[in-house]
Amino acid sequence: MSESVKRAFEGVKLFPFWLDNPRAPAVERELIGPTTADLVVVGGGFTGLWAAIQAKEADPSLDVVLVEAGKVAYGASGRPGGIISTSVMHGLPNATRVFPQDLDVLEKLGQENLDGFKESLTRYGIEADVEWNGEMTVAVDPGHLGHLKGDYELHVSHGHDVVLLDSKGAREQLDSPLFAGAMWSRNRSGTIHPAKLAWGLYKLAEAFYRTFPQLDDVRFTHAWGGPIDYCSRGAVFARRYHGGKSVFVAGYTGFGVAGSRFGAKMGLDMLWHRETVITSLDISRKGPSYIPPEPVRWIAAKITFNAFDGADDRGGWRRLWINSIKALGFPM
Ligand SMILES: Cc1cc2nc3c(=O)[nH]c(=O)nc-3n(C[C@H](O)[C@H](O)[C@H](O)COP(=O)(O)OP(=O)(O)OC[C@H]3O[C@@H](n4cnc5c(N)ncnc54)[C@H](O)[C@@H]3O)c2cc1C
Repeated sequence: MSESVKRAFEGVKLFPFWLDNPRAPAVERELIGPTTADLVVVGGGFTGLWAAIQAKEADPSLDVVLVEAGKVAYGASGRPGGIISTSVMHGLPNATRVFPQDLDVLEKLGQENLDGFKESLTRYGIEADVEWNGEMTVAVDPGHLGHLKGDYELHVSHGHDVVLLDSKGAREQLDSPLFAGAMWSRNRSGTIHPAKLAWGLYKLAEAFYRTFPQLDDVRFTHAWGGPIDYCSRGAVFARRYHGGKSVFVAGYTGFGVAGSRFGAKMGLDMLWHRETVITSLDISRKGPSYIPPEPVRWIAAKITFNAFDGADDRGGWRRLWINSIKALGFPM
């Protein structure tokens, strides 16, 4: 670690910034002994909270119980970057890769989901520092510009409000000397304080140095590094079990802040055996492709990390490996 990075992290608190807040709700009393409910939601992260709320919205008479093993939002939901995205498929290019036949419907569902997300924040008065500034995909190497242009054309063809920026235009928005260009998607995306969002929902339910060298003298107050779940689909899936009486929802792969609202709806539709647009699609009917067991998974991940390290300038076996993994259906 360079001296500059060490300095930046001096005295850092190893705890997620979002959760270190006096607004954190107190822990509820424990559920001791048997209870009954029409619907039991297990987990007080975004998926569980959205499931409880959407179930009540669908039928206010339902008796819904939410059970959380620890504290609300202390799982992935209190630790994200806080980026809100339209897509429920980890982005349009990933949707094109996995479900090209359902692309238009998935896009529409993603836009409806985000509109519903926005509308819920307004309706329930949830204050979570939302900023609808859009989302910028940047090229940090002139060699990435062709790829960026392809993404731009794909977004335009699906009616997104996007602009393609050259280096100067990108730096006018976000000033890093590394940016060779950018695609700025200006609608239906932005950032949010995830813990405030989760606590708001709960109340209802009762390598910086390289990327931003100009931040040389910045000091970080909080640090937390942890894993993001990885699903080969790169997006949500749900499965029924216990003879259809239970459903689990998972797989967002770092795209679950708004996507969890959609995931919760998909889970409820499946639990209630509803025939909806969502349950008619492959995203509900098919599972993600298989990730091999340990130790194969670990070895393959190590080789892939190694292949990525310098793949742009060296190519050779690295490119071949990455292309083969892509061909097996994994997002790269
Ligand atoms: C580092 C990181 C960065 C991310 N950045 C973004 C981002 O910028 N934008 C974005 O859209 N998404 C992002 N994500 C993804 C997003 O945070 C997750 O997809 C989302 O929070 C998942 O919510 P969840 O409710 O499914 O899971 P969780 O938030 O993990 O909730 C699961 C809950 O279930 C509870 N639980 C587990 N087992 C039991 C049990 N047996 N009984 C009772 N309770 C139980 C846990 O305690 C936990 O509270 C990121 C994720 C990580 C980790």
